[in-house]
Amino acid sequence: MNPSRQGCIEAWVPRGLVSAVAGGPALEATAEGLLPLSVHWNQGKITRLEPIGLQRPEPRQMLLPRLVEPHAHLDKAFSWREAHNLAGTYEGALAANLAEHRSRDRNLVLKRAGRALQHGLGHGLRAVRSHVDSLGPAADGSWEALLELQRQWRGRMELQLVALRPLDQWTSSSGRQLAARVARSGGLLGIVLGPPCHGSDTCRALGQILGLADQLGCGIDLHIDEASTDPGAGLRQLIRVLQQNRIEVPITCSHASSMSLLPATPLRRLAEQLACHQVGVVALPLTNAWLLGRQIGATPVQRPIAPIRQLQRAGVTVAVGGDNVQDPWFPAGNFDPLALMAMALPLAQLAPWQRLGLAPFTTAAAQLLGLAWNGTLFPGAPADLILLDASSWAEALASPPRRRVLVEGGWLEPACRDDLPQTQTMPIADVGSGR
Ligand SMILES: [Zn+2]
Repeated sequence: MNPSRQGCIEAWVPRGLVSAVAGGPALEATAEGLLPLSVHWNQGKITRLEPIGLQRPEPRQMLLPRLVEPHAHLDKAFSWREAHNLAGTYEGALAANLAEHRSRDRNLVLKRAGRALQHGLGHGLRAVRSHVDSLGPAADGSWEALLELQRQWRGRMELQLVALRPLDQWTSSSGRQLAARVARSGGLLGIVLGPPCHGSDTCRALGQILGLADQLGCGIDLHIDEASTDPGAGLRQLIRVLQQNRIEVPITCSHASSMSLLPATPLRRLAEQLACHQVGVVALPLTNAWLLGRQIGATPVQRPIAPIRQLQRAGVTVAVGGDNVQDPWFPAGNFDPLALMAMALPLAQLAPWQRLGLAPFTTAAAQLLGLAWNGTLFPGAPADLILLDASSWAEALASPPRRRVLVEGGWLEPACRDDLPQTQTMPIADVGSGR
């Protein structure tokens, strides 16, 4: 690795991710909003962004910041083979997941999550928030493994951990003890809340756990309304609790899928209430599209997924995550943020050449995870970049492009990506203008 961690690249950079460009020729973006820039870095930090003059050849590569996975499940990643769910139903996934718990232990989670982080690093991720099944005999071993990996990967990948339990399992004394342990390790509390979730018991339990999280200073991330029925029922309960209790810790709602089934006016009101209480949303289109809206013998035309556009319009911060990777909940995926962006095109009609189409994968995801760097490029920002073998968004999303990853100003060694599929790696010798 270059010891001074110094370099310069000429590449196309998304306009929405650039600030503080030095003087030079007038900048003209392509129709896809890409700017031709010369990006300089030294000692792990970006030092200068300069427009490329008209007399210079156009760049043949694209540059993005290293990206963020706001919602993963590293403890069960790559478990499909032993815990498949061929029917593709939510109930089948849950049953296979619970059965798989019986064989899950520390070593297995170390192996699965280590593989996941390796893939994520090679594909250009810099931070991952993973939910961890935290009930039953596998819970302790999973936490041991993931805390160990969190230490081992510090400096290369930020790993945030969320203790995932059904709502009614948090109010017991063992739930409260777990919450205290999670708080001491800097983790978040995760709640599963889906239909049926009406009634005062749900509201009371939710109020108790939010109050506990607030007292412990733990962020909260809920699996909420991952369903095709009872539109927005869990979110309404959450709003009711937030109207009655002052909660200061950050709250993220993952899924929020059934909300999209609400009529336009109540949907808008609910989105405004979420914005008012500063609740963020992580949309998870892949798992939702696979598990929800199923009807025997029919191709579904109704696809419950967080109403990303309406939420953004109301002022809610929305990120998009990959969720499950090759586990009972979703058989595909590979911790590749570019592949996720490509899938979001048809599933959510999110186009990265629009500011609000790119934000869920970049700045909004960083904001929801509370990361120190929001992913925009400016002098002084980390030289943490992905160099894509593509000169347009269409090329970048047509198939997962070959890429190189810059970590704190040093190129990731190919050895770190040995186990990645060959089509997604880029031998050093193939790199053109990277220097
Ligand atoms: Zn999840």
